[in-house]
Amino acid sequence: MASLVFVTGGVVSSLGKGLSAAALAAILESRGLKVTLVKLDPYINVDPGTMSPFQHGEVYVTDDGAETDLDLGHYERFVRTRMGQLNNCTSGRIYSNVIAKERKGDYLGATVQVIPHVTDEIKDWVRRASEGYDVAMIEIGGTVGDIESLPFLEAIRQLGVEYGKNAMFMHLTLVPYLRAANEIKTKPTQHSVKELRSIGIQPDILLCRSEFELTEAEREKIALFTNVPKKAVITALDARNCIYDIPKMLFDEGLDDLIVEGFGLEDKVGEANLDDWLEVVDRMVNTRHEVTVAMVGKYVEHHDAYKSLTEALVHGGLRQRIKVNILRLESEDLDGNDLSMLEGVDAVLVPGGFGERGFEGKVNAIRFARENGVPYLGICYGMQAAAVEFARSVCGLEGANTTEIDPSTAHNVIGLITEWVDASGNVEHRDEKSDLGGTMRLGGQECRLREGSMARRLYGQEIVRERHRHRYEFNNRYRDVFQKNGMVLSGLSMDETLVEIIELPEHPWFLACQFHPEFTSTPRDGHPLFTGFIEAALREQQGELPRGVAQL
Ligand code: GLN
Repeated sequence: MASLVFVTGGVVSSLGKGLSAAALAAILESRGLKVTLVKLDPYINVDPGTMSPFQHGEVYVTDDGAETDLDLGHYERFVRTRMGQLNNCTSGRIYSNVIAKERKGDYLGATVQVIPHVTDEIKDWVRRASEGYDVAMIEIGGTVGDIESLPFLEAIRQLGVEYGKNAMFMHLTLVPYLRAANEIKTKPTQHSVKELRSIGIQPDILLCRSEFELTEAEREKIALFTNVPKKAVITALDARNCIYDIPKMLFDEGLDDLIVEGFGLEDKVGEANLDDWLEVVDRMVNTRHEVTVAMVGKYVEHHDAYKSLTEALVHGGLRQRIKVNILRLESEDLDGNDLSMLEGVDAVLVPGGFGERGFEGKVNAIRFARENGVPYLGICYGMQAAAVEFARSVCGLEGANTTEIDPSTAHNVIGLITEWVDASGNVEHRDEKSDLGGTMRLGGQECRLREGSMARRLYGQEIVRERHRHRYEFNNRYRDVFQKNGMVLSGLSMDETLVEIIELPEHPWFLACQFHPEFTSTPRDGHPLFTGFIEAALREQQGELPRGVAQL
């Protein structure tokens, strides 16, 4: 049976529950424990796959193809355990399971109710997700007091009783500083714990988000009012330099010991070793170079919409201590002829995306990068746009497009598999998974890299596994004309039916992939494509890349 740490939040949202849970998990992992993390989200969507990035931030995709909350990205960046379908669960998923069971008659005529049927379903999920681990951190989305989260809180209360000493409750709260009074205020924390206790949950640990270290007296006061031992009232200051500081900060407050002692795991664990994290922070803080990457997308102002991507770009600079500045450009602003915004940037990136708005701006930005020898990395939609640009400008295929935008284009260089009509009017099918067309290709798949290509050199291996989230594909009918014009198809699916990576050998650094490498980049290991890209940006800045138009 795994030991469970339930992580709740109070007072306000955005206190960084996910990051705190992930950072704590990182310390526990470094002490030799097998750790996993689970996010329970109270909203009714069955998963975040259908939610707009504007509202909910990025949709994070796991290797097994789950579309999940972006907190799972934090989890994977902080611990070695890989996340999957079981690591994220919403109210919608729980209710749809319960309703499906009810329809099948599984409840044998009982009146189906929130307690016990919904709560049982939640408890069951937590048990399954934590199986096989020493410690599972179970994060409850939202804030205590929300109507939506009540069934989850009731379920974890019950699990607390069931697991006894193998369950702990950690509550994050805000301890605000009032400038006018020159005082920090503990009252919101008292109220938030009171709220939690009114539904039967007594926290074991309080993580108090505060701008200042809490004094002994303040911790004592909070302890007195909340029934939490003083040593378990912990100050969680804002991260000093970057989020990768947090494991060390929580370790300095003794948080991991509270968990280890609480569960009686002393004999099972070693000392924490946070050298990796200190190294990451050192590389991030003590930089030697600085580059600027233009990120041309649709939701650029909404930082959470590209969470994994911005992290991956930062990781890409760590090997050579390069600070990465991201110039966020709305692709719509590049729809016209004025591309002056791109002058002087060291590299251009077009990330994943959907729909028509701003697509031509992306195509224009790619043309700029290709013609001026500026390093370019295209991801998913960014590869599709690169293919469209190349088809129009280099292959002379006028009006080339993706059918996502123009279903009747003369040259559907990007389309649904079912639309790859050959010259005689036959639809080309992949032998096995021909029903992929019209649905999302999701999750990790293997890809073979072409000998002698830049991709192969960067990865240093022949077969790589990367994660997908898209419907449209490169149309195989155009392979020949692309290759004749100098585009190398450097990554293909294992059965060779799908194009995964394209690159231009005559350009200093031009590579685009159909998958999302940002989901597998971590601060400790980076990712070969991002490291290669950022280091190319530095060479571009230092004038080492050949300038001028790559003549094709
Ligand atoms: N809209 C494109 C597709 O569905 C690309 C998706 C993406 O960039 N994730 O294929």
